[in-house]
Amino acid sequence: MAKRDYYEVLGVNKNASPEELKSAYRKLAVKYHPDKNPNNKSAEDKFKEASEAYGVLSDKSKKENYDNFGHAAFENSGGGQGGFGGFSGADFSDIFEDFFGDFGGGRSSRNRSSNNRGSDLRYDLSISLEEAYEGKKQNIQFSTSEKCNSCKGNGSKPGSSPSRCSYCGGNGRVRSNQGFFTVQQTCPQCAGNGEEITDPCSDCNGQGNTRASKKIAVSIPKGVDDGTRIRLAGKGEAGTRGGASGDLYLFINVKSHELFKRSEVNLFFEFPISITDAALGATIEIPTIDGKKAKIKIPEGTQDGKQFRLKGKGMPFMRRGDFGDLYVEIKTEVPIYLNKEQRNLLEKFREIENEKSNPGIKKFFQKAKDFWKN
Ligand SMILES: [Zn+2]
Ligand SMILES: [Zn+2]
Repeated sequence: MAKRDYYEVLGVNKNASPEELKSAYRKLAVKYHPDKNPNNKSAEDKFKEASEAYGVLSDKSKKENYDNFGHAAFENSGGGQGGFGGFSGADFSDIFEDFFGDFGGGRSSRNRSSNNRGSDLRYDLSISLEEAYEGKKQNIQFSTSEKCNSCKGNGSKPGSSPSRCSYCGGNGRVRSNQGFFTVQQTCPQCAGNGEEITDPCSDCNGQGNTRASKKIAVSIPKGVDDGTRIRLAGKGEAGTRGGASGDLYLFINVKSHELFKRSEVNLFFEFPISITDAALGATIEIPTIDGKKAKIKIPEGTQDGKQFRLKGKGMPFMRRGDFGDLYVEIKTEVPIYLNKEQRNLLEKFREIENEKSNPGIKKFFQKAKDFWKN
């Protein structure tokens, strides 16, 4: 289903003032709040839709992006980074923590019930297999929101301070009557903060945050695999009004290699050799992922498909220090475009070929003969 226009969701026009947006959202939030509409999926959806719309339109920079690009502004493009505009930061983190535990560093302390936590960010990073082998330090640059310098993030003009929320009287929760019950819910006007900004900071329009382009150095550990996600705690968008910062997630893409195939920590490739090397034996030089060479002794009579394992020549185990293995599979290449001399020699060889040197052929025809007999 196509997403509805955020202005349409809130029932306001594009030039609505922040106050009009807030009041439109408040009406919808109060009407559709899940506490007030238990087990009502449609009300819950409407509540989420309105919260998402307000979440974007009440944030100056997100609104600007939305006005310019519509919903596409918050979809991940696959290249570079993008914010998760539509999700609340907390939900998004929960999903990731289920999957990845605290991989990537210490847990940031956070208050799950707080709406003030900054959004998580995603950054897609493509690296080569060699870089995954060696590990890498890299600077990445992305657009994010940072705590406003002028107001230190509280959103009020320096010298002034927020006043008590007029809607909830500073409680952060409001009560409403439903039949015999009194239900408590988060105040839709102050989002539970209990405070309202009466004299907003002019640098951030009371948001407490400003957009900034941030450059940080990240280290990619040795052995990362395609699809590895690295969490950089607290490197996401700044929280509002003292809320914790979100996290930054690096999504690693390891590009495919033209020589080596990877399966977890093991590497694999097919090595073509001539039938004479296969028959007579040879010492071959093969490439290894560290950019060097290794020698393998091919014994005489090596058959097609034979695998050689080079211990410790695979990819490093992440955060361990030991390595997987490299598997080399022999592919015998039957010669083509024979010149006269080669053809003569091979024809001479065919004349003196015998069953002893081709036991596989002998065995097959023995079985075939028995089959024809019966
Ligand atoms: Zn400010
Ligand atoms: Zn309030």
